[in-house]
Amino acid sequence: MTAPGERLWFAPAGLLLAVALLVSSQRDSAASQRSGADFFVIANTQYTVLHEIGHVIISELNVPYLGKEEDAADQLATAAMLRSSASGPGVAERLLAAADGWLMEWRQNAGDRSTQDFWDAHSLDIQRYYNINCLVYGTDPEAFAAWLESVEVPLPYPRAWRCGDEYRRAARSLDWVVATLHAQARQARRTVGGHVGVIYEPPATPEREAIEKLFKKTRVLEQSARIIESQFLLPYDVQIVLTNICGPTAYWRPDLKEIVICYKLVEHFTELAPQWPCAAPRAALKSQRLRNSCAAVPVQHTRFGG
Ligand SMILES: [Zn+2]
Repeated sequence: MTAPGERLWFAPAGLLLAVALLVSSQRDSAASQRSGADFFVIANTQYTVLHEIGHVIISELNVPYLGKEEDAADQLATAAMLRSSASGPGVAERLLAAADGWLMEWRQNAGDRSTQDFWDAHSLDIQRYYNINCLVYGTDPEAFAAWLESVEVPLPYPRAWRCGDEYRRAARSLDWVVATLHAQARQARRTVGGHVGVIYEPPATPEREAIEKLFKKTRVLEQSARIIESQFLLPYDVQIVLTNICGPTAYWRPDLKEIVICYKLVEHFTELAPQWPCAAPRAALKSQRLRNSCAAVPVQHTRFGG
């Protein structure tokens, strides 16, 4: 969970990336700034939802963890997205866009560091950027080798060479969590997991109407719910609620069993999005390096399954 006002986050990926690179390069001429920016908003929102379910599993369901809970929630979110059959194509790109969100936050606040950055329960934004990058790269270092060279702020080699092991450890930990939830269910004589639903509170402003429309069109929240259901056997139903009356944050409400995503947080992603390098039309991307690293971002709206 986060304090009010605090921004939260958040199939073999390498193969998907390679295929996506090929397909998207054929569609470059149709690139639009709006689609790139929307992709950024969708990616960051989905990562936030998955990060929150990480807290539910750790703090509510008493699954032990070592290290900082916020880091553990990030690892669970990233590993669950990478390993779920419900994630669909483009999951690596969504995670890398979420990582870029952290990088942009870090840069935006560069002149405004407070000591809170260092004692806070969350790792530094720039560390969260590298952590997500490392796990994605670690899924298939060979397939992601070219990508590692192409990004503007690449993983330094001393970290990158360990990322295969980091990913395998995260995947094993996720497997253990999944098995533990199944064991808890057996003990309670439950055979099915809780359903994860989505509730859209009517948007209070035209800007929020646009967000609701984008989310309903792409079904990003519904897909996030399927990712959760496909991995975790929850002991009760959970709702993902998009709501008006809160600040730029997201949090878990244990009394209502709700993952609350505030429109204000999504608006924050919307404000950041135009600065995301891959939000620019493909033709406007200045360097070959940038064109390479943005090549797999869909240029059309993607409708997720279910
Ligand atoms: Zn958190």
